[in-house]
Amino acid sequence: MTIRPICITGNPVLHARAQEVTVFDEALAELVQDMYETMDEAPGVGLAAPQIGVNLRVFVYDWDAEDGSEQRGVVINPTLEISEVPEGEPDWDTESEGCLSVPGERFPLKRANKAILRGLDLNQNPVHIEASGWFARIFQHEFDHLEGILYVDRLIDEYKDEANEIIIERGWGKDGLSWLPGKEKLEG
Ligand code: ZN
Repeated sequence: MTIRPICITGNPVLHARAQEVTVFDEALAELVQDMYETMDEAPGVGLAAPQIGVNLRVFVYDWDAEDGSEQRGVVINPTLEISEVPEGEPDWDTESEGCLSVPGERFPLKRANKAILRGLDLNQNPVHIEASGWFARIFQHEFDHLEGILYVDRLIDEYKDEANEIIIERGWGKDGLSWLPGKEKLEG
């Protein structure tokens, strides 16, 4: 198993639609293992394959639910059905997200409260999870990665401007930037 470098916003792989997985082989199993390890080391509650430079429709997640249970798994070639995204100003305290590809930053945005995730696991068994609240938010964030969308792309104008300023300030927003969990300390 290997901890893999995480791509930072600007890397084209993060901004393009990822491709369907067609081959379920040892290499895919290894990719998923590396994704778990990288997510755990980061640490993060989710990681999509494009974030480690792999243009495939795969994400992993690890979420300690409100009832104390650990929701941990992988989904391959997912679909995501969501309830309506509420309108209005997002709340800093309860609706702020971060992203390992925009490291060290957080901004609030509205997300649907309910999400139904379907897809396959590594053994090609069906995945079907009905999530709500923060768990549903994780699925929306990770699914977006497979569509080439970062959460900062979804911010309201005020926060999008702020995020863009930070991205420019840090010299992000261009190809070839990454950071390695466990090796490099994040700023901010
Ligand atoms: Zn992310």
